[in-house]
Amino acid sequence: MLRYLGFLFLAGAAASAAQTLTANGVIEQIKAHVGVPWKTPTVDTFKAGDPSTPVTGIAVTMMATYDVLVRAAARGDNLIITHEPTFYSHLDKTEEFDQNHDPVWQQKEKFIRDHHLVVWRFHDHWHMHRPDGILTGVVQDLKWQSYQSKTEPELFNVPPTTLAALASQMKQRLGINVVRVVGDPSMKVTTVALSPGAGGPELHMQTLYRDHPDVLAIGEVPEWETIEYIADAAAEGRHLGLILLGHIPSEQAGMEYCTTWLKTFLSGVKIEFVPAKEFFWLAK
Ligand SMILES: [Zn+2]
Repeated sequence: MLRYLGFLFLAGAAASAAQTLTANGVIEQIKAHVGVPWKTPTVDTFKAGDPSTPVTGIAVTMMATYDVLVRAAARGDNLIITHEPTFYSHLDKTEEFDQNHDPVWQQKEKFIRDHHLVVWRFHDHWHMHRPDGILTGVVQDLKWQSYQSKTEPELFNVPPTTLAALASQMKQRLGINVVRVVGDPSMKVTTVALSPGAGGPELHMQTLYRDHPDVLAIGEVPEWETIEYIADAAAEGRHLGLILLGHIPSEQAGMEYCTTWLKTFLSGVKIEFVPAKEFFWLAK
């Protein structure tokens, strides 16, 4: 009988623990499952809200834009797991906005507070996860798994195509409105280096020197760095093209994959992907 009561007590404790899964509790589980030691410093920290908040639903997104927060809150989600910043810079510093009573920031911050949202960033360690969580999701959506190099995961040997056709395929499979391309549209392509997000010009150049791809496909970069270099290469008649996918569309599939991954070890809580909308539209 005592044993039975003990069992009931334990079962009850487990049930109430599941009911009171907090934002911090979710993050602790992510840290335990991500497969790499937790490094510091990291940008993978809480950006807003109280970590002890009980979680009613998890919204996983590429970027915690105002639009994403509104849609997540409407769906009853109060823990937002975002790959990219919430407050417009890599470190999410808000002092300047606060000092200047910035109305855009104020409204976003108030929305988070009013809806008891908790925002946590999952950037560094999702890339450090092996294989890289972002790249894995993007490759899945591109259906490029069989083209991926075994030794250089960002390098792909694609069936012979042209720069124009490759750009169209990426635009269609990743669901992008605005894809910009540098280079000769009819250029033959068999190798592509994929660098989602904003890897930076140093990483882009390292990739070009190491892999010698026909095409580099990236999220974004300032227009006087990698873009100008590849424009010069094309103007010199060299065999090199660039596809600019945009930051959000270039990594978004990686956070959809993160949603699937979270479901492999988190239970008793709603987990859903809330895609960030592409900002850009084309002028007529
Ligand atoms: Zn990223």
